[in-house]
Amino acid sequence: MLWKKESNSPNTLYEDLFDRKTIAMVDKMFPMSNRNPVPRKNDVISLQKRKEGNRSFANGKWAEAIEKYNESLCFATTASEHISLAYANRASCFLHLKLYNECLIDIDLARKAGYPERLMPKLDQREGDCLKGRDDSIPLNEFNQKLSFEPDEKIPCMANVLKIEKNDAGKLSMVAKDNIDVGQTIILGKPFCVYLYSRFAWKCNICLKDNTNLVSCKKCTNVMFCSDECQSNDLHNHECGLKFIDDGQQNAQYLNEIRVLLLAINIFHSNIDELMSFVEQTVKSEPPREVPMSLADDQSKYRAFLKFPISAQFARRPDFLLLVYSIYKACQTIPYIAAKFSSLKHRRFLMHLIAHHIQITNFNSYQVNNQKTHGVDFYHQIGLMTKYFRHSCAPNVLMTERDGISIYTAIRSIKKGDELFISYFKFLGLPKHVRQQELWNQVHIKCNCSRCMGAAASSDQRQQLATDPDFPLILSSASNLSPYASQKIEDTIEKCIAFLTKYGQIKWCDEIGEAVDAYIKTLDCRIPRPLFT
Ligand SMILES: [Zn+2]
Ligand SMILES: [Zn+2]
Ligand SMILES: [Zn+2]
Repeated sequence: MLWKKESNSPNTLYEDLFDRKTIAMVDKMFPMSNRNPVPRKNDVISLQKRKEGNRSFANGKWAEAIEKYNESLCFATTASEHISLAYANRASCFLHLKLYNECLIDIDLARKAGYPERLMPKLDQREGDCLKGRDDSIPLNEFNQKLSFEPDEKIPCMANVLKIEKNDAGKLSMVAKDNIDVGQTIILGKPFCVYLYSRFAWKCNICLKDNTNLVSCKKCTNVMFCSDECQSNDLHNHECGLKFIDDGQQNAQYLNEIRVLLLAINIFHSNIDELMSFVEQTVKSEPPREVPMSLADDQSKYRAFLKFPISAQFARRPDFLLLVYSIYKACQTIPYIAAKFSSLKHRRFLMHLIAHHIQITNFNSYQVNNQKTHGVDFYHQIGLMTKYFRHSCAPNVLMTERDGISIYTAIRSIKKGDELFISYFKFLGLPKHVRQQELWNQVHIKCNCSRCMGAAASSDQRQQLATDPDFPLILSSASNLSPYASQKIEDTIEKCIAFLTKYGQIKWCDEIGEAVDAYIKTLDCRIPRPLFT
């Protein structure tokens, strides 16, 4: 529900959301005029980062070195020698990682950035090594981003063997219109919005691509791009160099919300009245959760986003309005946004829109972090398709993410008419009470999937699985894979698919869980991701 309240005055469509107390508190805590900008370009720091990169390189830590060279690129001033030197050193890392194309592109970037003549023989030598390596080695598997079926007409990221429908309980669910085999790719979805929260010298700021020839934003020191297309995207222009608050995660949250807002403004070509009537019509329309008519264009994607579920508890938190007001205030400091929302009516709408967006992003973001970061998020993304799948602890579909694309693959045999499930968390090996607690804590779901309700393979079936000679084979191959052993990876994938197909109809049990896990691990190796550490 948009925070709309009717008012008697025809000039005020929305009421102010914030009382004096909130405003005073935020103004005191959050003095925009004193905001601490991101560090400026600085060749001394650039050199220091390159030296750190050289130390990692000397220790054979190529991925770590790439990240340091990327940081060096971010800090180097335009036209300084440091840019070409960082590209040239990064080329060496790519060479060691056998990412030959990336190596050649970096050598070219180094030359174009004015690599010093006195060192040129070194670079020529590197190019020669790279070309030789490329000719001698088996090509790495290119990640094949293709659906296994024709795309759906209205929802082009989805295979035409799926449909979204409302089940008897009124919940949205994904159902198979035809049989689907293990290993088939059924959705390749671009998220509605992504935001990089930390490790800026690692992924493209716009599309999250990594393991590639990133170039730095020309103005700020914490944003990199993967391509001309991402570089010319104007989303970052409006937020370049902005830092509202010292806490990095909180600052990223503000910037994430600003990006969602900029996306919405762009969809309506800056016509705020149109945006307003679209949002009002969408939020008011029944039912609150709907089967999307289409996800082919930006307006329909935004509509799907606005229709995502939200948590009522979140908006009741005492600090909710403080957060909304802080982000509203941050938006006012961006001239482009301030100019679009200059009238009182539009400013009030903006407050309500931010409140609504925050509730959606808070409840629907897919956050990626790992133990090393102690809970600090690498990035958030709001996928459009995940919410149409219900959760099961015995899923038949796996959702993974690569370079900002969400990939959905069948991991069990799916028959026409079956419902498709994903697991919302990576906890399938854990006992029921732990899974249930996690689901309740994170998404307020009381799981009543077949596995939690006690459906399991019979002991005879489990015996049959455990004594199948392919069972120990796939488990051991999956745990001993090198990302460069292309042929072995393909063989293991084939064996996993054959095994999971053979036992496709057996209910979930530990053995199936282990086989699925081996399959997932092998899929992860298909494309080397040295930077994903
Ligand atoms: Zn990109
Ligand atoms: Zn920038
Ligand atoms: Zn369950």
